[in-house]
Amino acid sequence: MAKKWVYLFREGNAQMKSLLGGKGANLAEMTKIGLPVPPGFTISTEACTAFYENNHTLPEELFNQVRTAFTELEATTGKVFGQKEQPLLVSVRSGSVHSMPGMMDTILNLGLNDETVEGLAKLTGNQRFAYDCYRRFIQMFGNVVMGVDHYHFEHLIEKQKGLRSVLLDTDLTTEDWKQVIHKFKECIYMYTKESFPQDPQEQIKKAIVAVFKSWNNQRAQIYRRIHQIPDHLGTAVNVQIMVFGNMGNDSGTGVAFTRNPSTGQKELYGEFLINAQGEDVVAGVRTPEPIIKLKEQMPKIYESFCEIAQKLEAHYSDMQDIEFTIERGKLYILQTRAGKRTAQAAITIACNMVEEGLIDKHDALLRVAPEQLDQMLHPCLDKDAKLDVIAKGLPASPGAASGRIVFEADEAEYLTKQGYKVILVRPETTPEDIHGILAAQGVLTSRGGMTSHAAVVARGMGKACICGCEQIKIDLRKKEMAIGSLTLNEGDFITIDGSTGHVILGEVPLIEPTLSEEFKQLLAWADEVRHLHVRANADNPVDAKKARELGAEGIGLCRTEHMFMEQSRVPIVQQMILAETLEEREEALKKLLPMQKEDFYGIFQAMDGLPVNIRLLDPPLHEFLPNTEELAVEIAKLQCDESMDRMELNKKETLLRKVRNLQEFNPMLGHRGCRLGLIYPEIYAMQIEAIFLAAAQCQTEGIRVIPEIMIPLVGHVNELKTMRELVNEVATKVQTQTGETIPYTVGTMIEVPRAAITAREIAAEADFFSFGTNDLTQTTFGFSRDDAEGKFLHTYVENKILPENPFITLDIEGVGSLVRLGIHEGRSRKPNLKTGICGEHGGEKRSIQFCHDVGLDYVSCSPYRVPLARLSAAQAALKK
Ligand code: ADP
Ligand code: MG
Ligand code: MG
Repeated sequence: MAKKWVYLFREGNAQMKSLLGGKGANLAEMTKIGLPVPPGFTISTEACTAFYENNHTLPEELFNQVRTAFTELEATTGKVFGQKEQPLLVSVRSGSVHSMPGMMDTILNLGLNDETVEGLAKLTGNQRFAYDCYRRFIQMFGNVVMGVDHYHFEHLIEKQKGLRSVLLDTDLTTEDWKQVIHKFKECIYMYTKESFPQDPQEQIKKAIVAVFKSWNNQRAQIYRRIHQIPDHLGTAVNVQIMVFGNMGNDSGTGVAFTRNPSTGQKELYGEFLINAQGEDVVAGVRTPEPIIKLKEQMPKIYESFCEIAQKLEAHYSDMQDIEFTIERGKLYILQTRAGKRTAQAAITIACNMVEEGLIDKHDALLRVAPEQLDQMLHPCLDKDAKLDVIAKGLPASPGAASGRIVFEADEAEYLTKQGYKVILVRPETTPEDIHGILAAQGVLTSRGGMTSHAAVVARGMGKACICGCEQIKIDLRKKEMAIGSLTLNEGDFITIDGSTGHVILGEVPLIEPTLSEEFKQLLAWADEVRHLHVRANADNPVDAKKARELGAEGIGLCRTEHMFMEQSRVPIVQQMILAETLEEREEALKKLLPMQKEDFYGIFQAMDGLPVNIRLLDPPLHEFLPNTEELAVEIAKLQCDESMDRMELNKKETLLRKVRNLQEFNPMLGHRGCRLGLIYPEIYAMQIEAIFLAAAQCQTEGIRVIPEIMIPLVGHVNELKTMRELVNEVATKVQTQTGETIPYTVGTMIEVPRAAITAREIAAEADFFSFGTNDLTQTTFGFSRDDAEGKFLHTYVENKILPENPFITLDIEGVGSLVRLGIHEGRSRKPNLKTGICGEHGGEKRSIQFCHDVGLDYVSCSPYRVPLARLSAAQAALKK
């Protein structure tokens, strides 16, 4: 039997998303539960894959199946595809497994040509409508299938309006549209040297191919990259009988969310336009009316829409984003999907739905995307600050953002790369602006509603967004915008508040957000189910406190080098490094000791009762020294100076010589980590002494301390053994001296392959392992991170030589194998060995899943990632 490529809506259901795409599966499901969905069929994503595998040709058998499906549509409607008297018209719509609003292409009114348009006019008794549909079709087909820029068509419509001295599209008559259609066809021929096809069979074939191709257009690719959607999935094609929202004032089209996608509030949130076709709302070219107005204008329709919305939400037990069209007083549902929402809305909706009994706590945990959570921690506007509000638009996506005005997406991308903060200001944004939205701090548009694609996409990315701010008059040519008598230029600062819709002049200082009760509730549920502990990387009391506030259960990595880089300490640190005798070095270390002690005291205090993992000095010493080139320049300057100071010159020359001596060919693999402690044990000894002195002081003050002392970059057990002896020796000395017994442990980082491979031996000397996956990734690949990211890694990822940047998402097959081996070998020697991870991967969702799977005890990440890690760890436990 031939393969099935085509599924009628009545043959599918919501479970068939990977085959039918989200849109197709949900159209089928809605058909099944008896909602008013115009009939149609779906060409599967498998056909898309086949199309790409067979050199951009469609499977033979596919068209026979399409024809059979058409026969069924014709039988149900009594209309015939391509026939003049009773023309059947369809939409051809993209739709992949993951919804990608506006990123791929859709064509409406397909089946029209010079003959059928006449039939449509007769059938509906509405000539103007028929020709309006026809020109829309040629426009979409010309653009999507034949590749003629949108702009050319818009230009021709503008010209026609000018000719007739009218302002609105709706003022153009049948005759006008006929003339426009003629010009459209000429335009298509001019740019493509091909005629607009009159044969509906040819139209449908080409449209299907175009939709498949749109899977790989640039904006879809960018969207997939941002949202980590795999490239191989492909899209389905939905062919559906047209219904018309543009048949007059008893018709219309709209979009609604069953709950507010910005705040999560339980209220119907939507917009509509009377006498319009679907694209008009979502494309953001006209600013639509809020849905509540529909209640006044068409009360019956409003009521039945509310009913359907509720039914759909209950059916999917999730917030839905629903597209509808009203044709001459009859309501049709054209799409439903889980609505995209901000983090705030996701959390509120999940918590409310648990309360309403729609879902349980575990569902709620799986409903919130961990990577979205950092939106909750973004700074916000100070409510008490004095604000110079200059305009107000629709609050489309919450959050506050300040930046310089830019008017073009490319410009936004360029300036952001140069290090500027920008706000993208546009009359409307289209999906083609996605790279600009991504780069900008926030988006402001003068047209378009809250359900426009721009708003949906911004919310999905957690960008502040204000739409439909009609007070703003934008002049793209002059690169300026006017609000009343105020004119702002490109580069001027504004601030937008996406929660209120306020546009504010200038830059406004932002403050720390407060965590909502619901946010805390959700994380408390996460804590109930997760197995992994979550710690934070912090090396000062402020970060430690923040981490604790956000739920950290200890410090997984306290880097001591940052403490050395403080301005006032640098000269002492330099003195220590450049010392030529042990005495000289010890003198410097003596000065550093009380400072280090203070550092640790503050951290222990903040982490009262929780473990604090302190790593002894790790980076190559020359990182603390002046730059040799700068020094050489200074020396040269001194030498040229008539009144030069000999002493000063001598000093600088000595310094340069010493710094040069310390320079390494390959610092990443050079004299760093425990190699420092082995060559200069007095440095580590000072740090250890400081730790124990601070711990003792805390303990006498009633603070509970649990220090874990970590030796970095161990590759051979003997390195650890020697350093551990040093720790014990100093610890004993301080404990005797202070009379305080400290419950401490000593362990190591596993961050070079040899450590993972010989983990069994190393475990003999370690109480814990902390996988330093940043260095472990560097040493496993043999990449230096900075060189890789600066030079070739980008190309590697782009060309799919590597599936992902391994410094962001843990390379499970390679680096992950070493982690697995390290845990296994380590525990085989010491069953209760504590294991954790402290690389940046500790704050990344998929890496956390891996950490759960391999049975690590904890992950450690930066303080602001702690909530993400708590939720990810819970999801990992639930996804078993
Ligand atoms: P997207 O995925 O970009 O939202 P859609 O396939 O949903 O694209 O199509 C965009 C709009 O076109 C829809 O919002 C809908 O209003 C309109 N549309 C699609 N199919 C039909 C149809 N059969 N009849 C009327 N309008 C349609
Ligand atoms: Mg849609
Ligand atoms: Mg390291």
